[in-house]
Amino acid sequence: MLIQNATLIDTAPAPRVLPGHDLLVEDGRIAAVGRGLPSAGRTVVDGTGRIVLPGFVDTHRHTWLTALRGSTADMDLMGYLDLVLGRIAPRFRPDDVFHGTLAGAIEALASGVTTVQDYAHIAYTKAHADASVRALRESGVRAVFAYGQPVFGGGGGPDDVRAIHTEHFTGDGLVTMALAASGPSYSPMDAVRAEWALAEELGLRVYAHVGSGPVAEHPIEALRAAGLLTPDITFVHGNSLPDNELALISAAGAAVSICPAVEARMGHGAPMADRLTAHGVTTGLGVDVVSTVAGDMFSLMRATLQTSGLAAADALRLATVDGAAALGMAHHVGSLTVGKAADLVVLRATDPNLVGGEHDPIETVVTSAHPGNVESVFVAGKPARTTIPAELAEALHDSANHVRG
Ligand SMILES: [Zn+2]
Repeated sequence: MLIQNATLIDTAPAPRVLPGHDLLVEDGRIAAVGRGLPSAGRTVVDGTGRIVLPGFVDTHRHTWLTALRGSTADMDLMGYLDLVLGRIAPRFRPDDVFHGTLAGAIEALASGVTTVQDYAHIAYTKAHADASVRALRESGVRAVFAYGQPVFGGGGGPDDVRAIHTEHFTGDGLVTMALAASGPSYSPMDAVRAEWALAEELGLRVYAHVGSGPVAEHPIEALRAAGLLTPDITFVHGNSLPDNELALISAAGAAVSICPAVEARMGHGAPMADRLTAHGVTTGLGVDVVSTVAGDMFSLMRATLQTSGLAAADALRLATVDGAAALGMAHHVGSLTVGKAADLVVLRATDPNLVGGEHDPIETVVTSAHPGNVESVFVAGKPARTTIPAELAEALHDSANHVRG
């Protein structure tokens, strides 16, 4: 496939606009970027009036919660934890996880998110975890499935995690596995050691919600002291962490996923983008939960601008190449670099909310674009699923009724 004469927005080594450029896709990868690339024998896509970006990278989403869209917008964090994780989550059956995850993954794709980190802390049984993996695979999104225990009890042990790994993740594919750990902010250090040992045994990256609190005032220092602060960890939120904890994360080469919309709305604490940037921490953006906020990266780039002093181009980096780095996938996705996967989002630059922005497409996209501007999405060079079949909508509706009780 050859996309001709588009406005390309690349993100590496720094965000830049390439007007009137072509982009060649071969074998699922970006094969060339330039002007006037030869078109003979190639499927040509007219890029005139279109903006082409690398697909967005959502570094933290609980995709199973799609069945609860719009139902916790007026709750703070404690209200959300009590209702959703305390009372509603235990009612989720594997099929409810499947419907929510499949619909949520298609929602992500339709808004230009081509890589999503699914923090699936809903593994009451192995069948629940199976449902998450099957749904991610069926959607066609590139995903990091992070196996997670329910927050308030239940769930299988390490043997379930090993079984999921063996059954689903020994080959190649768009979906890879990680461990959604409870971590040092919520569990005693003995339990943390066991989680980290399991992740090491299976070669999994660790994802963990983190904050300074009653279990550990300095959770990052506690990890460091235990010899567990390694580069292959992505911490989530961390709004209450003091500066010296951020410095430790930076020094270790670990990453942080921030969810500026949810953090502002649920009252997690002061926004993190400026502090993380100042400490040089690898940082990505996450939707977190569509029960409270919109599930697209345009609104998150805007939430970043509204809660930080970052430039629009910096917000775009967080949503793409920096997010990829925060998942340990910087070599593979997040920019239009030749050799990377052809994960692409194509916007109609002629839409009413984007027209007139040709002088600065980066600022225009970050301040004004929305999922309705997405014309097409590609994952590994293939057109992505961007619509919800009627049967899935109906099944999701039934799941929502069931889990709400
Ligand atoms: Zn979360």
